[in-house]
Amino acid sequence: MLHHLSAELVQTLCRGSSLEIYTQTLKLKDPEKYSQFVVAKCTCPVRNNCKHCAAALFFLQAPENQPSILAALDVPEPTPVPAPAIEHKPSLPERVVDYFPLPRLALASVEYSAYEPRNGRMQRHLKHRDALALKYGP
Ligand SMILES: [Zn+2]
Repeated sequence: MLHHLSAELVQTLCRGSSLEIYTQTLKLKDPEKYSQFVVAKCTCPVRNNCKHCAAALFFLQAPENQPSILAALDVPEPTPVPAPAIEHKPSLPERVVDYFPLPRLALASVEYSAYEPRNGRMQRHLKHRDALALKYGP
């Protein structure tokens, strides 16, 4: 998704595989003067020349995106990004329950180690989970 566009700076938004939204900043330089004429930075843990930056370049290159990119160049201020439509789930029909539900509470803890890319070390994690289930019926 195009976020900001000018002659030498492009900002795009890309959703990562962890559903987090990252911002890519692409600085475009004169290809006659610089061998590395695209400087691509991203807010993801990789930070430079990542897959999100590659996706941004593919997005800018795709012919079907050209009309919206050219339209963005004519507008002096970046247009506000419309909020994504909220998906409404179909409501379930109400049921009258004439018996008392039986609660079942389950508690569990899990301890594990995982690689932390921000400091390059293994980090210990401890997570606690609870689950409440209700048994209906006789
Ligand atoms: Zn990235």
